Amino acid sequence: MTENFTQSKLDRCISCGYCLPACPTYQLTGAEESSPRGRITLMRAVQEGRMEKENLLAESGFCLGCRACEPVCPAGVEYGVLLEEMREILWQGKNRPLIVRGLFLLVKSRWRVRKLGLFSHTARPRSAKSDIHLMLGCFERVLFPHVSRTVADIAPEISVSLNQGCCGALHAHNGELELGRKMAVKLGEDLPGTILTTAGGCAAHLSANIGRERVKEFSEWWMQKEVLLSKIQQSGATIRVGFQDSCHLRNGLGIFKEPRILLRQISNYVEIPNASGCCGAAGSYSLLQKKNSRRVVAQKVNDIKSLNLDYVATVNPGCTRQLATALKRSGLKTRVVHISELVALAAR
Ligand code: SF4
Ligand code: SF4
Repeated sequence: MTENFTQSKLDRCISCGYCLPACPTYQLTGAEESSPRGRITLMRAVQEGRMEKENLLAESGFCLGCRACEPVCPAGVEYGVLLEEMREILWQGKNRPLIVRGLFLLVKSRWRVRKLGLFSHTARPRSAKSDIHLMLGCFERVLFPHVSRTVADIAPEISVSLNQGCCGALHAHNGELELGRKMAVKLGEDLPGTILTTAGGCAAHLSANIGRERVKEFSEWWMQKEVLLSKIQQSGATIRVGFQDSCHLRNGLGIFKEPRILLRQISNYVEIPNASGCCGAAGSYSLLQKKNSRRVVAQKVNDIKSLNLDYVATVNPGCTRQLATALKRSGLKTRVVHISELVALAAR
């Protein structure tokens, strides 16, 4: 278990403040301690013994972990890693939220994850010629089993194995960094070759632990296939589609062009204002910080309202759930789907 921050990672921050405008929690509060720079200052105070670590608890929960502070940082601060360390240092024993403990239990082992999807109609197991394995995810297989089914339908060359557990992103982001790393390595062993995932968060975590070359997120993978797709028509018109980035896919792996290129091919694409900004799902955040999560997504709903979209496409199940719930609550007819579902419509 990590008890200290990695000093070299803390040292990288030059306190320039370029990250402040990019940070959603700083935008919400305008408070220095709710900014990346402010949190790093607090981490340093704990590291140097000038402050009790418990004083970091509130900010360790308030931070979305969206990593929007990373691409704008001129010093290359790996804030995402510092946040993982902060939660590992703090979220132990009584400080670990009950919801997190429950989630850990649900996906603790391969058989538990498999049990989760027992009654879900996910992609059926099959052995294909290529060395590409479809990742079924843990919560995705329960909430959106049709996503893996759709990908398997349009890509007969991929293999599907039921012998797979959770990738450990949930653990790494919620105070069990080492276990999260081990789970990624185990999944890499269970699914040899390339792992194809429909979840941006899992793509980033897996890449960091088993190597970028072994992981493909759906939109980047499909782009490489160079399949010509036609525009999707509904009621005599080309569908209007917006896109919500996955924070970890964009800020961690730099993938944001690929889904847009794909969507421009198959729809009348509309860029949602601040599509790169977090939707407030942020893994377990929507469960742990309900009020703040709703504050973050409220701005998204406002941005989407006036665009008259048929669909919002996503590349991460957490975003799908968050946006679908928020749009429904506000009475919008816009449907939220995983990008593969639109690709499947265009490929018909
Ligand atoms: S932009 Fe980077 S170096 Fe500057 S304050 Fe933020 S984290 Fe520190
Ligand atoms: S991860 Fe997101 S919420 Fe947290 S400090 Fe960075 S930009 Fe702000």
